[in-house]
Amino acid sequence: MLGEENNPELFYASFQFAAVGMALADIQGDFLMVNPSLTRITGYSNNDLMQKRDADITYHEDINLDLRFLQQLLNGEISYYEVEKRYINKEGHKVWVHLSVSAFEDNKGQKFLIYQVKDINRRKKAEKNLRRSEEQYRKLVELCPDAICVHNKNEILYVNEAGLKELDVKEEELVGKPILSLLNDGYHQFYYGIVNEDWSAEQLEFSITLPDGREKDLICSSTPIMFQGEKAFQVVFRDNTYNKELEKTNDILLQQSEKMNLVGELAAGIAHEIRNPLTSLKGFLQLLSADFEDHSFPYDKIIFSEIDRINSIINELLLLAKPTIEELKKLDIRHVVNQVALFMKAQANMYNIEVLVDLPKYPVILEGSENKLKQVFINLLQNSIEAMPSGGKITIEISVLSETFVLSFKDEGYGIPDELIDKIGKPFFTTKENGTGLGLMVTNNIIQHHKGSLSILSKEGEGTEILITFPRTNY
Ligand code: ADP
Ligand code: MG
Repeated sequence: MLGEENNPELFYASFQFAAVGMALADIQGDFLMVNPSLTRITGYSNNDLMQKRDADITYHEDINLDLRFLQQLLNGEISYYEVEKRYINKEGHKVWVHLSVSAFEDNKGQKFLIYQVKDINRRKKAEKNLRRSEEQYRKLVELCPDAICVHNKNEILYVNEAGLKELDVKEEELVGKPILSLLNDGYHQFYYGIVNEDWSAEQLEFSITLPDGREKDLICSSTPIMFQGEKAFQVVFRDNTYNKELEKTNDILLQQSEKMNLVGELAAGIAHEIRNPLTSLKGFLQLLSADFEDHSFPYDKIIFSEIDRINSIINELLLLAKPTIEELKKLDIRHVVNQVALFMKAQANMYNIEVLVDLPKYPVILEGSENKLKQVFINLLQNSIEAMPSGGKITIEISVLSETFVLSFKDEGYGIPDELIDKIGKPFFTTKENGTGLGLMVTNNIIQHHKGSLSILSKEGEGTEILITFPRTNY
């Protein structure tokens, strides 16, 4: 029977055939008996090993590793110990082994050591590889310009530099915190689902509350990974607060433009209603003023000019009306600019203003309404002329980019004070005694209908440049 006390052959066989390396040694570690598994692990023959002690085949750095335990073992304080250390095999290579050492005394009171040696080289190599790949991952993620956070089902394990910067927090404020504690209500279940199902997910939008109470909108992707030998999730994230704000602003703009459409329709209706009586008023006034050629009625000029003013307001209001469905045509914007410039030069000359036009040699095509665009250019030139009462230069230029082109109208007029720039283009905002404050709003409206955008660069006392960007169209 196995384990039967007086069957030494069986004992010997189990020693010989054991899968782990085994050795019997004296208390100095000199081997007295070794099994074939140990010769296989160390590469030394039976005879070689009999000339050696454990310390002889131990890698020099590891020799002192278990001295203390050995002492305790020999003192009878412990009955065995285990240690992981490196042997040097016959070929001179390091071999990781798991060593269990126990001691016993024979009936003459002499102490012996029993070594059990397990080859753990493969495991150690795998561990090393894992550590190395983890280190590589860490380095990669550390330097990655994207914000990255690694978490497991419960807590945040790691946040890279870019991530800490993006959220403007310190590492210790996040690492170790439960991931769900950050997510705002309403996202918990959703994210929990993703984590539990091991999903990869992209373009997730979350809002979170940071430990210091700040709220952030994030957009992220989440991917299951292994991290420190455990299942985890890598989340690449980006602050989405700006976009969210933008969405809000866009909503407001949309509302505004809807309002403007409504105003436009109203304006058109009212304008027609006013224009007709105004025309007869003007006619009667003319008759009347003929009667007072002796100037006994001195206010006729004022009334005339006020009527003209009402007329011009109405004309601009009419332009606000929903753009009449006008056929869009492919236009060479250079021709439109040239025509307007020619037309406005006469007026500019009166104020000693030079209009310089610098256009590309090749056609610049835009799909649009010729009359509306003319209106835009006239409005801008009109403003520039009005801003230069004592003369100067207006430059019109076009720069062509790959997808867009930019029209620039630049003057040397009195410019716009910083504090007014936000108000420019708002309905009825004018700094002019006879202004309507509608020109730029109409201009903006038309440009938007052409999918373009307008920006204003201005310095008080130096001049103003209006830039209009339009999408390019092919022939
Ligand atoms: P209006 O010309 O009737 O005042 P606009 O909408 O055309 O109305 O312009 C609004 C205001 O913007 C002007 O009153 C003026 O103060 C300012 N502005 C527009 N263009 C210029 C410019 N080129 N130089 C200086 N100020 C300008
Ligand atoms: Mg104007």
